Amino acid sequence: MYLCDLHIHTNYCDGADTPEEIVLEAIQKGMSRIGFSAHSYTYFDESYCIKKDKIQAYKDEISQLKEKYNDKIEILCGIEQDFYSNERADGYDYVIGSVHYLKTGDKFIPIDLSADCLTNAVRKYYNGDFYKIAEDYFSTVAKIKNAQIIGHFDLITKFNEGFCLFDESDERYVNAYKNALDMLLKQDVIFEINTGAISRGFKNEPYPSRVILDYIRKNGGKTILSSDCHKKEALMINFDKYQSWVF
Ligand SMILES: [Zn+2]
Ligand SMILES: [Zn+2]
Repeated sequence: MYLCDLHIHTNYCDGADTPEEIVLEAIQKGMSRIGFSAHSYTYFDESYCIKKDKIQAYKDEISQLKEKYNDKIEILCGIEQDFYSNERADGYDYVIGSVHYLKTGDKFIPIDLSADCLTNAVRKYYNGDFYKIAEDYFSTVAKIKNAQIIGHFDLITKFNEGFCLFDESDERYVNAYKNALDMLLKQDVIFEINTGAISRGFKNEPYPSRVILDYIRKNGGKTILSSDCHKKEALMINFDKYQSWVF
């Protein structure tokens, strides 16, 4: 079986393990291919991303590991490029395009930090209207360019388990994600089926939701499983359960 995971964080950003520890774990798990995807540098929030002066070291280290383990596993050097990152995303094997922040004025609002943070931001900047923030989120996602993989397409639902914040079948919400999908489906992109929020206890199912995946499938899109892991134990986590979702 071809085992692959292309959404992996290490201690170059907010992950726990070194790239080599991940490689060794992947070999042990019998994987054919892994891809590292450090969080791109964002000047407005340095808490979770790769440091600006570590970018070259990251590329160099992955490149050394590629050679060292050449006969055992295929290793790719990618980047998870935040929409508002100013860093160049060229020179990587692939790019995951992700939106983690929305911008209002000169403020960057993290949408995946905590339920409180999201709710407060909606109150303060969106008149308490969750559909408005969802519209803003998806219109930002729609503008992702130069990425091969779209990261956690409906990340805005991270704290919406059981539709506790908003109704994902509401017309405004549906229109917002469909507009973004219509834009992205014109590009040659793959949507990840991201199991990361399940393993971290935020969601019961992957991103994107099944309804969204149906729309992607009907419109000729492609998907790939990814774990968005921040520790080696979570490599390919829940892949067996969601393998049948991939198309
Ligand atoms: Zn992400
Ligand atoms: Zn990630």
